[in-house]
Amino acid sequence: MIASIMPNYKRFDLAFEHGEGLWLTGTNGRRYLDFGAGIAVSSLGHSHPALVEAITAQAKKLIHVSNLYQVPQAKALADLLVAHSFADSVLFCNSGAEANEGLIKLIRRAQYKNGHPERTRIICFHHAFHGRTLATISATGNPAYLEGFGSPVEGFDHVPFNDIEAVRAAITDKTAGILIEPVQGESGIRAAEPAFLRALRALCDEKGLYLGIDEVQSGMGRTGTFFAFEHAGITPDVVSSAKGIGGGFPLGAVLARADLAQHLTPGTHGTTYGGNPLACAAGFAVVSEILRPGFLEHVRTTGAAFGKMLEACVTDHPSIFEEVRGIGLMRGLRCRIPVGEVLEAVMAEGLLAIGAGDNVLRLVPPLIATEADCAEACTRIGRAAHALSNQ
Ligand SMILES: *Cc1c(COP(=O)(O)O)cnc(C)c1O
Repeated sequence: MIASIMPNYKRFDLAFEHGEGLWLTGTNGRRYLDFGAGIAVSSLGHSHPALVEAITAQAKKLIHVSNLYQVPQAKALADLLVAHSFADSVLFCNSGAEANEGLIKLIRRAQYKNGHPERTRIICFHHAFHGRTLATISATGNPAYLEGFGSPVEGFDHVPFNDIEAVRAAITDKTAGILIEPVQGESGIRAAEPAFLRALRALCDEKGLYLGIDEVQSGMGRTGTFFAFEHAGITPDVVSSAKGIGGGFPLGAVLARADLAQHLTPGTHGTTYGGNPLACAAGFAVVSEILRPGFLEHVRTTGAAFGKMLEACVTDHPSIFEEVRGIGLMRGLRCRIPVGEVLEAVMAEGLLAIGAGDNVLRLVPPLIATEADCAEACTRIGRAAHALSNQ
């Protein structure tokens, strides 16, 4: 007998019925400090008044119309994103994988329209994660995600992360662009070196390639800047966004410069839900909060303090933890024992975190987290580590 819900997730035996700020209340009556934020999604925490109000007000007026009509809520959000980023134009969709599909199509289409139909291949990186559609599992390249799903989608070449000579060597006359996460999330919170990102930009300029950045997890303030690529001082050609942009409402976006965006003419691409009034009202509320004066500065100072507290966790529990990774409020603790055991132990202490590749405990709290919240999380991590050391 199979359960009515398909078995593609390994789920904890825990459900929640209520959330407020950084706290979730389980159906078991226990309260949990949420440092997973629905996988870096609930950027404003749970039940944020501005987000609840925006969704409620829009739902009462109009939930959905198709892209056959003007959608003022989408235009307002696009205007806001364009005003505060490198981008000239925005495409809305519903998820991170769909945003990356749009990014890949935009890069290929622009090369085609610019007289290079042979340039279809995209260079991606070892340990990348770009989503679960057929094209994005091919861009991801992880054999475990490709197994049993037929021929991978053609056109993705994989090279080591942070290795500019490997990228240079992989470029051929069929290469259209490069796709990179500035901080790899799923594979264990590995940050690209700023000098590497700058070298990628220079290489793209030299070879006529487009630089695509996957900011699905690292963007929307998570690392203390609006997008994580800003730490390197570069300007990309096209960026994918999702996760935190809707604060929990499903929303994705592709942000691009005009020279790419101009090629997405009527009929070339589309989605029924993408950018509907309700999703864009939610996104507008979230992005407006993130862009509020002082918000990103708060993430930077809180994130820096959190990093120091996590360093102390490593010093205090060297048999459990090995290393702190990440930037801002996108953090990882590499574990010396299986991360699954650490996850169970912190949950027993009332703290929610997420596993990531490379045996890393991922800590991605809502961006409204305070230093006191981070200290509370570290206290609970310390208690969990103590319990694990005494086993
Ligand atoms: C989560 C994630 C995706 C996929 O997003 P979905 O909304 O799950 O499709 C793509 N890229 C990165 C970097 C991610 O972290």
